[in-house]
Amino acid sequence: MFRLDDRVALVTGGSRGIGRAVCVALAKAGARVVVNYRSNQDAANETLRAVTAAGGQGSVVGFDVSEPAAVDSAIQAVAKEHGRLDILVNNAGIALDQLLMRLKPEELAATWATNVNGAIYCAKASIRPMMRAKQGRIINVSSVVAEAGNPGQAAYSSSKAALIGLTKTLAREYASRGVTVNAVAPGYIETDMTSELNDSLQQEIVRQTPLARVGKPEEVAAAVLFLASDEAAYITGQVLRVNGGMYV
Ligand code: NDP
Repeated sequence: MFRLDDRVALVTGGSRGIGRAVCVALAKAGARVVVNYRSNQDAANETLRAVTAAGGQGSVVGFDVSEPAAVDSAIQAVAKEHGRLDILVNNAGIALDQLLMRLKPEELAATWATNVNGAIYCAKASIRPMMRAKQGRIINVSSVVAEAGNPGQAAYSSSKAALIGLTKTLAREYASRGVTVNAVAPGYIETDMTSELNDSLQQEIVRQTPLARVGKPEEVAAAVLFLASDEAAYITGQVLRVNGGMYV
């Protein structure tokens, strides 16, 4: 079940956290995994070691998803090297949290540049090889706050909500070409991104979560693996929530 043998997958922001767990899950299922990172090459190499240790194959490619020229040339090179690109996981993301009154235009721009523009650039560069093969999977990593909102996250939550609009539009645009496009919306997951929250905030988040615990990156990766698989062939334009019941 959920085999991805011979498939090639690109995971943006695969160097750490949820992205790393996604790389390992896809590799375990048989996909060749291209691990993207922006600046932390050591962490990306660590992901590659985890992929190899899990019996999988992969490579590491550094580029900033917010730079369209870099995205184009890197993704063209991946598709050329492997002769295909079957799965794109738009996972790279940043959170610059700030109350609206204090939010600087450059913080808003940087958040959208990576979280939204980056996902669009990567999808645009990946769609050609997918259309040629008449099959493909694009999975966008949104967030619970896209639908639930969260004080202090005007830039981040709006960017994650934009990914849901993008998911639905691309799902309609490329369904006839055999490409499905879905989103996963994680709740509070234990990674570098959330490690800076203070203890009382973490306890409050757990209190608001019916399953009464934080999530693990592997639990998000399992949802991505499902959406990438043949078993999910009839699912497109959907948001799969992996949030412990925090938003239902
Ligand atoms: P981390 O901060 O642990 O990792 C972020 C990853 O994104 C790193 O691999 C980083 O690369 C990469 N990255 C950031 N900016 C860019 C860029 N411009 N170009 C390429 N890569 C980039 O994040 P998480 O694992 O926690 O989050 C992964 C995704 O899941 C994000 O989209 C996040 O918004 C989303 N999410 C996370 C939740 C959570 O609770 N953790 C909840 C809901 C959604 P590098 O290592 O080089 O810095």
